[in-house]
Amino acid sequence: MKKKLRAGIFAATGTVGQRLIQLLANHPWFEVSAVAASDNSAGKKYAQATRWMLETPLPDSVAAMTVQSCKPGLDCDFVLSSLPSEVAERAEEDMARSGIPVISNAGSHRMKPDVPLLIPEINPDHLDALAVQKQRIGGKGYIVTNPNCTSIGLVFPLAALHRKFGVEAVSVVTMQAISGAGYPGVASLDILDNVLPAIGGGDEDRKVETEPLKLLGQWKNGAFVDASIRMSAQTHRVNVRDGHLEAVSVKLSESAPREVVEAAIREFRSPIDELGLPSAPRPVIIVENNIERPQPRLDRDRGNGMAVVVGPVQPCAVLDYKFRLCSHNTIRGAAGAAILNAELLYAKGLLG
Ligand code: NAP
Repeated sequence: MKKKLRAGIFAATGTVGQRLIQLLANHPWFEVSAVAASDNSAGKKYAQATRWMLETPLPDSVAAMTVQSCKPGLDCDFVLSSLPSEVAERAEEDMARSGIPVISNAGSHRMKPDVPLLIPEINPDHLDALAVQKQRIGGKGYIVTNPNCTSIGLVFPLAALHRKFGVEAVSVVTMQAISGAGYPGVASLDILDNVLPAIGGGDEDRKVETEPLKLLGQWKNGAFVDASIRMSAQTHRVNVRDGHLEAVSVKLSESAPREVVEAAIREFRSPIDELGLPSAPRPVIIVENNIERPQPRLDRDRGNGMAVVVGPVQPCAVLDYKFRLCSHNTIRGAAGAAILNAELLYAKGLLG
């Protein structure tokens, strides 16, 4: 058997860091070789530094590791990072400059002009930007990012529709799980018996309005060209542990019957299907016929938490069509997305 690549985890003690450790526990290609977090955790054994929140046991091999600092010198072939954005900006770039590829969940580098914002099933060709980025950074290291946990679910049905009919305008209202705010996250007295609008003071609305345009755009002549779609997003935190629900209305460039629009989403095929990446679900979009689905509790774990579940497509009296979708925010929206990005990089010979 081939030797596994060694993954270092930045922010290993957090919500996403724990998911990364859980999902890598039996990974066929990668293994956790080092864990790093803030100065509060550095020097402690991982089991003492973290408050393990997942249903599966903390792997013994990781529990016994000593937590290190998030800086170059970590014993690994690549880094999976879930640092807070303000820390990621510098720490991820330092690591990449030291020659180590960084695959990040954080927001700080996502929209940079030479950083791929990658969903393997949607825009694998955006990896061409790495040639430009590597020249800037110098050496073998680079940064690849995955989108915000809400943008990622939304982009799947939009990609299916944009390919087939063109999408002109999107209005989305989100109902986002508490774990999306990390741990301890939102105070219980704020979220119990309540819904919190405009996540991050409206910053989440902005991310959901901008990231899909880069994801659905093109890498052309050495630059990203955004898709031309009018986007309107209103985000909300709701009292659900995991799984983001989104209510979406779309205006298409071409008119098409409801059944044809729904079939375009159901029949979406990914350009990476033939690569057989270990974390890639098949199908990646599941369309439900039941108008009372998707629901976070029932649907977030479909496809091992990597599928996007879409409800029936219905006519919309304001735009053309409307539907709901659900995706697991810490798996498809974060840790699983980053691992799938690493798998694509490995399959393309860009990692290890
Ligand atoms: P979290 O549960 O609050 O965990 C924060 C992590 O960051 C901890 O490991 C913490 O280490 C570490 N950290 C904090 N300050 C640090 C510093 N100065 N230097 C090094 N490490 C530091 O947050 P999270 O939910 O895992 O989110 C982490 C990142 O992932 C954020 O950028 C977030 O936007 C992104 N993200 C989260 C989700 C989600 O669903 N939760 C989805 C997509 C993207 P200590 O334990 O040592 O303090």
